[in-house]
Amino acid sequence: MADHSTPKHRLLVVEDEASIRALLESTLRLTGFEVSSADSGAAALREVERFGPDLVLLDVMLPDLDGFEVTRSMRAGGITTPVLFLTARIDVSDRIAGLRSGGDDYVTKPFSIEEVLLRIRAILRRTGAEESPSGEAGENILLFADLRLDEDAHEVHRADRYVPLSPTEFQLLGYLMANANRVLSRTQIVQHVWGYDFAGDSRIVETYVKYLRKKIDCVGPPLIHTVRGIGYCLRLPRDHSQHAQAADR
Ligand code: CA
Repeated sequence: MADHSTPKHRLLVVEDEASIRALLESTLRLTGFEVSSADSGAAALREVERFGPDLVLLDVMLPDLDGFEVTRSMRAGGITTPVLFLTARIDVSDRIAGLRSGGDDYVTKPFSIEEVLLRIRAILRRTGAEESPSGEAGENILLFADLRLDEDAHEVHRADRYVPLSPTEFQLLGYLMANANRVLSRTQIVQHVWGYDFAGDSRIVETYVKYLRKKIDCVGPPLIHTVRGIGYCLRLPRDHSQHAQAADR
């Protein structure tokens, strides 16, 4: 098994229903993760500090703080640990609210353990926690316009200014930069960044593009462009005169 050479990933399970918590804990341990758990929002925040998980599996409905508040509180404290929500709510707006609060993905209850594992692995893969720490250094740098993305250091700069991004935002920008000047469909983006078929819920892409624009396109000319009815493209802005000339030909 591939897991022998790599250190165990640490997962924090936050769930107030004891039976579900026990099931998740035992299954995830069996699968090779190091697992800790918490049964409330306050306990979760303490455990995030103490245990330092690679990922938090976070129930939305908790007796004190809800999962969204826990996530907001983590992000406000500068903790970028990825969050996978467990939610019984089926309303899409709640899901989007969850992602807005800084979560990375969600699984709807009742869930299958297989699905939870799939999502956990997809998140760990895209946050780089699953890459082997073997020593190729400094080669993985993407450049476009005044953007610089360093995959090894996991850092983005625009015009020499550091831009803090969440793991998912980082992955999305990397995909756009690797395909600069090419139009990418929402489906392509979902499949590449989220790593599985997101059942047509392309709003997650719009949400994350909005985040990226706020961070990337507020410091210079806009580089992330919407291509109506298709998707998105990272390119230099075209000014109107060029546009008019092109149309004349
Ligand atoms: Ca609950």
